[in-house]
Amino acid sequence: VAVKKGFNGFNRNECNHAAPKSKAVREVALIAKNRDERRQRNADSKAIKEAMIKVEGENPNWEFLGMIKDYRSKLEFHPLRMSDPIVENQITVCVRKRPLNTKEIKKNEIDVITIPTRERLILHEPKSKVDLTKYLENLQFRFDYVFDESTTNEMVYKFTAQPLIKTIFEGGMATCFAYGQTGSGKTHTMGGEFKGKQQNFNSGIYGLVARDVFQLLSTPNYRKMNLMVSSSFFEIYGKLVFDLLAKKKRLRVLEDGNQTVQIVGLSEVAVKNVDDVLDIIQRGTNERTSGQTSANLLSSRSHAVFQILLRKVTGRGNKLIGKFSLIDLAGNERGADTFKSNRQTRIEGADINRSLLALKECIRALGRKGVHCPFRGSKLTQILRDSFIGDKSKTCMIALISPGVASWEHSLNTLRYADRVKELVVNETNNE
Ligand code: ADP
Ligand code: MG
Repeated sequence: VAVKKGFNGFNRNECNHAAPKSKAVREVALIAKNRDERRQRNADSKAIKEAMIKVEGENPNWEFLGMIKDYRSKLEFHPLRMSDPIVENQITVCVRKRPLNTKEIKKNEIDVITIPTRERLILHEPKSKVDLTKYLENLQFRFDYVFDESTTNEMVYKFTAQPLIKTIFEGGMATCFAYGQTGSGKTHTMGGEFKGKQQNFNSGIYGLVARDVFQLLSTPNYRKMNLMVSSSFFEIYGKLVFDLLAKKKRLRVLEDGNQTVQIVGLSEVAVKNVDDVLDIIQRGTNERTSGQTSANLLSSRSHAVFQILLRKVTGRGNKLIGKFSLIDLAGNERGADTFKSNRQTRIEGADINRSLLALKECIRALGRKGVHCPFRGSKLTQILRDSFIGDKSKTCMIALISPGVASWEHSLNTLRYADRVKELVVNETNNE
């Protein structure tokens, strides 16, 4: 007789015909049922473990992700809010972290940047001991503001460039720099959000500054002052300067006996409203990126300087009142790998490195009387010289970082640089 096993492993016949079941039989049945369930559970968890191991095999960062999650679970998060107070500084240094992008997510990259509060940032450096045990080095930083990945351009603007608008109306110079690795979000922040290849210039710091300059200009106090607004847009590539509003015409930089620096023949276009400015941004941006393939992005190897100038209309020419310079800096990784690649790239890298170092020193010298500003150290600082002197000059630096683990070294370089521009003490009691 073919004997089929019942679900409890019993002989079905026996099951069906052993009525009434004895207590012993019922207990045996229960034990068998429990055993089967246990086996199934074990099989399930084994399958899960195997799947995990497979994922771990594919993603060596899995373990680090667990550690970062654990670290975060012990923190309290109080991010910056739109309604938070703005601190008035002569030098403001802040950091913005962009979200992981699709490419990074596809590569199973993990996010190694944690921003618990409006001024603190932690970089989780992935490390391995000699026995290959993985651990994290949690590096703490403090800045004037730290913007997490959910921050909009409008909010970054509110705490960085917007407080400097009044400076140029009060006879001062204002500068705002975007510093960081290529792909970290400099152009997104300064020029505006990208929708595919299209850029929404309304949403960038250039456009937002223009909006508020005209807004302030229309208030009764300033309306009667007879002021005019104009714009320039140029690019600094090594020692060369190109006019982005005149088909990249090469321009000469001259310094007169009074150390006044002049860019000879630079286009300065009068603008009457925000739309005029947006047109100029569009023109300059097209000029800057035309003919570039993504593999050979010239724009990442040059500094772009967009300026809004305020002049008082007088009988004898127009007197400069204030100037706002907004600078999309060359990718800082270009300066870092100067030892690599061909001669041209090395020279470029050295130039970028020199200009970024000079820039750091010039910002540091701002507001410290008697401290030397090595403005002749690079074309960039030479051109911006008047922005680094005077009590009325104000500057802000937005350091941009990519959150992915593959970028951690570049991010660390960026954070260290920003930290040196303005050294804020990390309050150890805030660290857990
Ligand atoms: P960079 O100018 O520093 O080389 P980009 O501004 O061109 O970098 O940014 C690289 C990519 O990342 C762009 O596609 C941009 O749209 C995107 N990106 C940058 N910052 C953000 C952000 N905060 N939110 C969403 N996407 C961003
Ligand atoms: Mg860019």
